[in-house]
Amino acid sequence: MSKEITSRQVDYSQWYNDLIIKGELADYSAVRGCMVIKPYGFGLWENMRDALDKMFKDTGHVNAYFPLFVPKSLFEAEEKNAEGFAKECAIVTHYRLKNDPENKGKLIVDPEAKLEEELVVRPTSEAIIWNTYKGWIQSYRDLPILVNQWANVVRWEMRTRLFLRTAEFLWQEGHTAHATKEEALEETLKMLDVYAEFAEKYMAVPVIKGVKTASERFAGAEDTYCIEALMQDGKALQAGTSHFLGQNFAKAFDVKYSDKNNQLDYVWATSWGVSTRLIGALVMAHSDDDGLILPPKIAPLQVVIVPIYKNEEQKSLIDAKVNHILHGLKTKNIRVKYDDSDNNRPGWKFAEYEKKGVPVRLALGVRDLENNVIEIARRDTKEKQTYSLDNAVATIEALLENIQQHMFDKALAFREQNISNADNWDEFVRLLDEKAGFIAAHWDGTAETEEKIKELTKATIRCIPLNNPQEDGKCVLTGNPSKERVLFARAY
Ligand code: AMP
Repeated sequence: MSKEITSRQVDYSQWYNDLIIKGELADYSAVRGCMVIKPYGFGLWENMRDALDKMFKDTGHVNAYFPLFVPKSLFEAEEKNAEGFAKECAIVTHYRLKNDPENKGKLIVDPEAKLEEELVVRPTSEAIIWNTYKGWIQSYRDLPILVNQWANVVRWEMRTRLFLRTAEFLWQEGHTAHATKEEALEETLKMLDVYAEFAEKYMAVPVIKGVKTASERFAGAEDTYCIEALMQDGKALQAGTSHFLGQNFAKAFDVKYSDKNNQLDYVWATSWGVSTRLIGALVMAHSDDDGLILPPKIAPLQVVIVPIYKNEEQKSLIDAKVNHILHGLKTKNIRVKYDDSDNNRPGWKFAEYEKKGVPVRLALGVRDLENNVIEIARRDTKEKQTYSLDNAVATIEALLENIQQHMFDKALAFREQNISNADNWDEFVRLLDEKAGFIAAHWDGTAETEEKIKELTKATIRCIPLNNPQEDGKCVLTGNPSKERVLFARAY
């Protein structure tokens, strides 16, 4: 059964696509670069969304919703932001179709229904939001504004990949407004911490927190902070970003507040976002050649129970016991399914749930009932063990926690093994080719060197880690002096 999934060794990209499609997370669609998120994948997204949403609310944020369309004149207002996103914008120019007089049954754009002002389909919402904040903010009493939006955005990406990079994607975008620079900076880092905590605690994906170099910065930001994760093929993935926007958007949209002394000043801003890309991160960080491996905390299904029986009499004995376990698990809010469908044999079901990454699988037959035991298999290590039926619920509960921790520990150990120091160019190139992973190396701080390294090796500076140790060294490419190592990697 598992043979239908391409092995990682043979073709990593195909392996990834197979997992997404055959694990029923998503499907390709009729629209280039856009995907259909299937119910199982959406269930995963919902669990991620709910956990994040709670974390946002616990840190004082509220949700709101802004329009999908941004009038072009507003979009242009913050020049750097506009310029940065211009190349990947979808634009609405007309609002009506009409029958094609020359081609029956076909429709054409009605030239008379041209919009007076073109609308940009939001690639990000700073412009429309800051135009709105202008009306919300007059005095220091109106601050801070701590708003988040769950939405879809469109970026006309040329090279797309399921979840990791799509033309339309789902995300959340936080947009906050503050009276002082310090407060905005504090918010930027606070949300970076929220993302890091979410990635590690819920997704079991260890991340490195850092700041981007100027060339990788969000268009319109003063500073972009990020969390970077490592995938099993040694490539890095930007898993989330938090931007300190300074007063750029306040200036572009003329958003001022009067302080306690009636002095007017521009408002300080942040924005931060994570997207459905996180699902790609999850898949690439944990899964194996038999399918997905999902961390229990966000898995749509945490436990599946498969009965093994020969006749209805046996089945009803098993049903009775399973109902008892189901009740116990549901009381503990454990997401469980009893798959007693008789369309497929147990072996088929085992492979199917393995492919879908369900963390724990129980199998129960009549002989088990006689012995008062149950077979429990964990997806992450594929270990199978027989436990007493008496405390099955407690056993499963502990096992789910154990799996969550084990997945994180394993991913962390992998990441630690795949961070290497390179002290000269030969070493840098050799490590990239042999091992990939993160390479900590000195860099002379110039955009030219950064670009040259990218050209030569496809490796980019993923980030300058926070609390980076200071150390005198020489740039791996130019030999010019440097005060700290930065993290390079080839990335998705
Ligand atoms: P940004 O607004 O560019 O800082 O991006 C916010 C988040 O969305 C980051 O975590 C990105 O990794 C993610 N992201 C950016 N572009 C895409 C895309 N085309 N598909 C999926 N996620 C994306």
